[in-house]
Amino acid sequence: MKPAPFEYYAPSSLPDAVDLLARLDADGCDMKIIAGGQSLMPMLALRVARPEALVDLRRLEDLDYIRKEDDGTLAIGAMTSKQAAADSPLVRDAHPLFQAATELVGHRQIRNRGSVGGSFAHADPASEYPAVALVLDTEFEAIGPDGPRRIRAADFFVTYMTTALEPTDILTAVRFAPFPSGRRWAIQEFARRNGDLALAGVALAFDIEAGLCRDVRIAAFGVEATAVRLTAAEQMLEGRPAQRIAFEDAGKLAAAALDDPMSCIHASSDYRRHLIGVLTARALGEAAARAH
Ligand SMILES: Cc1cc2nc3c(=O)[nH]c(=O)nc-3n(C[C@H](O)[C@H](O)[C@H](O)COP(=O)(O)OP(=O)(O)OC[C@H]3O[C@@H](n4cnc5c(N)ncnc54)[C@H](O)[C@@H]3O)c2cc1C
Repeated sequence: MKPAPFEYYAPSSLPDAVDLLARLDADGCDMKIIAGGQSLMPMLALRVARPEALVDLRRLEDLDYIRKEDDGTLAIGAMTSKQAAADSPLVRDAHPLFQAATELVGHRQIRNRGSVGGSFAHADPASEYPAVALVLDTEFEAIGPDGPRRIRAADFFVTYMTTALEPTDILTAVRFAPFPSGRRWAIQEFARRNGDLALAGVALAFDIEAGLCRDVRIAAFGVEATAVRLTAAEQMLEGRPAQRIAFEDAGKLAAAALDDPMSCIHASSDYRRHLIGVLTARALGEAAARAH
């Protein structure tokens, strides 16, 4: 199918883009930002989305960067392609969990066109990125008619494909606080085919001090309307020996504590619950065994 007709704008600066969005909104225009188009174009083609105007961010080259700031924060501009993030030695060294998650997103062609910001703004519950953001406590930088603001991951993802961004907001960057070099991490997912969105997945990070688990953060994706922290498993693991028996207990608890996993023709609610149990135990084991 072809998209319904729309006006097309491609502002050449961030202030112009902010003004344009505010003006369109004030005129009552139903507009949408487009970045890489890897999620939005199929939605337009299927007419699931029928905006009257598209505001393309492709010309905003200022939003395409990966840099380490003085305090060690890794900042990635929203228009950076996912493949650039996957290939970046800076990302690999500073945030190996984010880099590993990026490699799991779709295929190279999709990562070449799709932007880092687009994935976060799209907030697909099956996407790896929101879960990783919850684990890493990622900060989101946005700008709207009232100026710039920052939003923490816990407040950013609201519900199914909905974030704290207003229609007039542009996500400009994602910021990751330094990830300590000894901290363990892993991401595990189950998809029908390589490159598909996951039916279920788990991302996590924790420390091991004197053989005990500390500061455990685990998030699941593909199971509820947003990525969710698996707090029951996190709390149970705190101070427990980093051993297989504890990881298997954590998996069971994670699965049992899920509210109401999604169900679709590919995976029932019970199957997703089972997957989360298995993937949690597996990811904990992988992280603990990681040489660093
Ligand atoms: C075959 C296939 C497989 C895929 N597999 C995966 C996968 O495994 N994991 C995964 O996470 N994703 C997957 N995707 C989605 C892909 O990663 C998209 O690139 C991504 O979700 C959206 O990024 P984009 O830049 O293309 O955004 P677009 O499609 O252009 O936009 C997506 C949404 O975000 C909004 N948006 C974009 N940029 C901004 C911004 N800077 N500020 C505010 N709002 C903005 C848009 O308005 C729109 O609502 C897959 C896609 C395909 C086609």
